Formats: sequence, C-alpha cells, structure tokens
Amino acid sequence: MHDKSVVSSLESMGCEASANTWLMGKGFTSLLGLDRAEITALVHEAGEPGYRAKQIMDAVYRQRVETLAEISTLPQEFRERLAQSGVTVGAARIENTFVSVDGTVRYLIAFADGQTVETVWMPEGDGGEAGDGSEAGEEAENSSPGISGAEAHSETSEPIAGLKRYATQKPSRSTICISSQVGCAVDCQFCLTALLGVKRNLTAGEIVAQVCAVLKDQKVSPPEDRINLVFMGMGEPFLNYENFIKAARLLVEGVGIAERRMTVSTAGIVPRIRDFGEEKIRPKLAISLNAPNHALRTRLMPLNKKWNLEMLIGAARDFPLRTREWITFEYVLLGGVNDEPNHAKEVAELLRGLRCKVNLIALNPGPGIDFTTPSPERVVAFQKVLRDAGIPAFVRRPRGRDIYAACGQLKRTVEVATSPDAHLPGISPAPEA
Ligand code: SF4
Repeated sequence: MHDKSVVSSLESMGCEASANTWLMGKGFTSLLGLDRAEITALVHEAGEPGYRAKQIMDAVYRQRVETLAEISTLPQEFRERLAQSGVTVGAARIENTFVSVDGTVRYLIAFADGQTVETVWMPEGDGGEAGDGSEAGEEAENSSPGISGAEAHSETSEPIAGLKRYATQKPSRSTICISSQVGCAVDCQFCLTALLGVKRNLTAGEIVAQVCAVLKDQKVSPPEDRINLVFMGMGEPFLNYENFIKAARLLVEGVGIAERRMTVSTAGIVPRIRDFGEEKIRPKLAISLNAPNHALRTRLMPLNKKWNLEMLIGAARDFPLRTREWITFEYVLLGGVNDEPNHAKEVAELLRGLRCKVNLIALNPGPGIDFTTPSPERVVAFQKVLRDAGIPAFVRRPRGRDIYAACGQLKRTVEVATSPDAHLPGISPAPEA
C-alpha cells in the first residue's frame, strides 16, 4: 500500500534529517539533552562554580522545570545571562491529549520547530515486559496473571468498570512509550506510523523531553514511582542511534529510570544491534519479528531485503545478554497472513536455543491498514504452539485502541485520516479528551 522505496536509503534518511540544533556557535540552546560533562563545560565557560552543573542537572531532569526562571537555585544574574545567550530549557509542550477508557493517555507533544510526535502513558503497563527476566517483567507477570492467557487478548474481557479504575487510582507501575523520530522510514506494512514516512530525527533532548512532560503531567517521579520505558513509539530508534543512546543514558543518569526498566524495539537494523550490544548503559533489546520466513517477512517488512532473517537471528544469537536478560521478539498477528499454526512452528524453529521470549500482539486496526485482526482463538492457538515448543510466549494486552494509542497505531491519526491517500474504512479520528 505504500510503494515508496525505503530500503536503500534508510540509514541516510535518519541521519540527514537530524534537527540536533543544541550547539550553535559556541553556545548551547537547550539544556535538555546535555549530559553532565556538557553542562559542566557550559558552567565553566560561563565562569560559574562547578556545583552549578549539579543544580542545573537536578532542575532540568529531576524537577523537570520548563523555564530558566524556575531554576531558583541559580542566581538571577546567571539565569539572565543564559537567557540572553539564547539558552532555553528545551521542554516539550503537550499540544493535545486523548484519554482511553482503560486509562491510557496518548499525548501529542510539540517541539520548538512545531513538529510533533506521540507519546503514550499506560497505567499498569501493557504486560510487554512479562517473562523478560527483569524486575519489571516479574512485576508485569505478578500484577497481571492473566496477561499470558486468552483472556488477556480480548478487550472486552475486562469490564469497563474495572478498566476505569486505572483512571482513578494511582497505578503501582506504569509504562511510557516514547518516540524517536517524527514519522518512520521503515515502512512496515501493518503500521499506521509508516504511512507518513519520516520527517526528521528527534534530538536526545527531545526524546528525554517527552518523558519529562509525561511524568510532570501524571505527577509521578522515578525512582519513587515505578516507571518503565519502551522505545516503541514513532520511529526506528536504531536509525537515530546516537540520539537514542544518549537519551537512554540521560534517562538513567539524569531522570533516574533504571536501564533494566527500559526496552528498545528495533525492526532489525542489524549493524546497530551489534553496536548496541557493546554499550555500557543500554535498555533491554526487543526485535520486531512479525514473520517466520524470508518471503513473508520481506512482504510485511521491506527492510528484510537489506537485513534478512538470517542476519537478524545471527545478530540476536551473538547479542551479549546480561544476567537474567532475555531478548524479546515481537510478533504482530495479522489475520490469515502470519497467524497459522505452521507459522508458529517455523518461529519456534527459528528461535530454538535463543534466550528469548515472544510477545504476541493481535493487529491493532487503523485507517489505511489493509490487514485484519485475528480471532482470540487464533492468537491462543499460536501461543500454544510456541509454548509447547518451549518458547515463552505472552499476549500483550491491547491498550488505548479506542484512541489509536496501541502498538503500530501512533502518528497523528487525524493527519492520516484526512490524508487524500488514506483509505478510511469507516473509522473516524479519535475523539479529543
Ligand atoms: S512498526 Fe515501528 S519500525 Fe515499523 S514502520 Fe511502524 S514505527 Fe516504523
């Protein structure tokens, strides 16, 4: 349905579209996105004592101020000098919010140049970490024991009254799904974000700014509140690698979210998977698999022509896993396309011997997507084949489908729905909250 050629220039598209403008001449323009060493350099250049760097780090990443005027620990004169030299905090602006009956909130977040991305808040998470060996995974399994079974698949299985509790009680743990690019170049055929292509990379500051904006809006603060992060929103993080990995480090060192509480999902940028394994500070790895063989994966993910299944699974087998760490493979089930029991057998064969688990996601429908959602029975049958073959398999709870916040549904649905190219199978834009 999107016939543009994407594979040949994926990496260059990601890089040249970068809008990393924090360094202008000698001066920084945005504090968000700077690490401790860079803020220390800024402070020294301004002739201020070294402890000002900690004050700025705390204000920007822990207190999540939005203006220089709010950094009350700094002298007024220093704040004025910073402002006069064009420095800002670089906070993101929440332009709109859409609230689901299940408590999920989809944020439309705007940056200085007017570009926007979507960021999703999921109270109680979506069970995506279940079985990945981490503390977050144990919490997901313990608090949602039904997540791996058939009942977790059905949106209607939990009474609406039960779902609404998320909106009224402070959750014990939550997940924020963040974007790494404006749009995406990867062109997965079942993904709404793919319809608009890629506009630009986000800077490290813009990636972190999404988290700061959501934490502030939700009035939660890590590490006191248990927050998990998934880099699974708009964009392919490994096509914006330097900014993504810097953001991950800032989220650990600045915002205070443990790396074991973060997961990054890649469509399969093989060279970057290998780079990622070398990082000292890094989230857990998830790989978007979606097909059990070369032909089907190439059809669903054109990227497979460049980095094929053999290369991808090779990189996964070589990946240096840490203690208690498992690789997550994500598999979006498309009715009648990749959801046959035989496909599940092929997946089990492909992954045999890997320390991994599989997250099954029944397709989230959307305007312009020509696939159907499989029945709950098909999902459970697929899961059973994997489990019988000894592969841990979990069904991810769909979150925020009514507001287009679920997996593969991000990217300004209003924009897609009003595009002359989009098919609109009777689906209206999500209502504003
Ligand atoms: S599924 Fe992810 S990688 Fe694929 S097009 Fe959508 S946003 Fe990009």
